[in-house]
Amino acid sequence: MKSCKNILVAIDTSNEAKQVLAAATELGRCFDAKLSLIHVVEPVVTDSSYDLINTVPLEMDDVLVKHAEDFLANLKRDLAPDTDISSSVELGSVKTEILRHARENSIDLIVVGSHGRHGLALLLGSTANALLHGAPCDVYVVRIKD
Ligand code: AMP
Repeated sequence: MKSCKNILVAIDTSNEAKQVLAAATELGRCFDAKLSLIHVVEPVVTDSSYDLINTVPLEMDDVLVKHAEDFLANLKRDLAPDTDISSSVELGSVKTEILRHARENSIDLIVVGSHGRHGLALLLGSTANALLHGAPCDVYVVRIKD
């Protein structure tokens, strides 16, 4: 592989996220690369014809973003306390936001789990599959052990 200085790690909030970060941390050491974590919160959608209900999703998105920030902070503290890892939580479509982040931050490698919430019945989950098809860089798929 050509030089690999910036690794982006896609983290969901499942128990399996530990496996993804552990593998990414090893890769980071091998390549002496900088790691950054990303989690994407998919906005809660409701029928916009109900004005009253519409105020709830905005607050729910904030709650989900805060929950994700805490989750990433705890994961870093538990698994890689001595490594300098940045993290970001984005709001939007999982595939779109991860690929946008990769393009805008000169990412050399995206690390993603083979499957998580969406892909338990599949060999390769929907996110891994989507990233493999659209990524501007190499993608490393961590095989999740059930
Ligand atoms: P899934 O597509 O749910 O089977 O998840 C497969 C992998 O995609 C997970 O192990 C994560 O690496 C990544 N992933 C899934 N959902 C998200 C998300 N909301 N934000 C960031 N990464 C995600």
